[in-house]
Amino acid sequence: MRRESCPACKGEGAKPGTKKIKCPECEGAGQTRTMGGFFTISRTCARCGGEGRVIQTPCSNCRGKGLVRAERKIHVKVPEGADTGLRLRVAGEGETGARGGRSGDLYVDISVAPDEMFERHGNDLVCGVPISFAQAALGAEIEVPTLNGKVKMKVPAGTQSGKFFRIRGKGMPDVHGYGRGDELVRVIVETPSGLNAKQKRLLEEFAQACGENVNPFSRSFMQKVKKLFK
Ligand SMILES: [Zn+2]
Ligand SMILES: [Zn+2]
Repeated sequence: MRRESCPACKGEGAKPGTKKIKCPECEGAGQTRTMGGFFTISRTCARCGGEGRVIQTPCSNCRGKGLVRAERKIHVKVPEGADTGLRLRVAGEGETGARGGRSGDLYVDISVAPDEMFERHGNDLVCGVPISFAQAALGAEIEVPTLNGKVKMKVPAGTQSGKFFRIRGKGMPDVHGYGRGDELVRVIVETPSGLNAKQKRLLEEFAQACGENVNPFSRSFMQKVKKLFK
């Protein structure tokens, strides 16, 4: 929504077909003079605002203001890599100036909506990717989404949940043209659930075969608990 020049009176404010008349207050001079002792004080005419002419019959479309409120849709090119807080200037799309003055500029403040897949940190993108317990333990090649489609990524054996892997140059393009950020893949190891009888048996066998040594974190945790209650 902005104020635009009234199309009916072309911004003049006078009813179409009528003309502005000479200001009766200042006789068209645009200024009024008052004698004050030795001085003559000149003031801008309050009636015509210094224009020297006044509207006799105001335009009904804009009530003599010369401007109307109008809503328009415009296309604005958002640069690659634009982030929240970026302000774009669109020249000449702001408010129309009064009395045929130059139009102002429109400022567009960019606010980037959150994405389901990627979390933005500057030009870097963080993407959480679930992997299975077996993939994490044995190592695997997984598919990872990027802005430009899927890429393959190797997960080494023994990867812990929450570990980050950096894929260079797969982040956001820099808004000033300085290359691209990276994508940081955060792997999330999923605990298997809803196991059937065979799977449960295998996992129990696995646990027995491992003893306590497979869980370095829980082992150190148990040692701390022992110390605490000694
Ligand atoms: Zn008008
Ligand atoms: Zn006047």
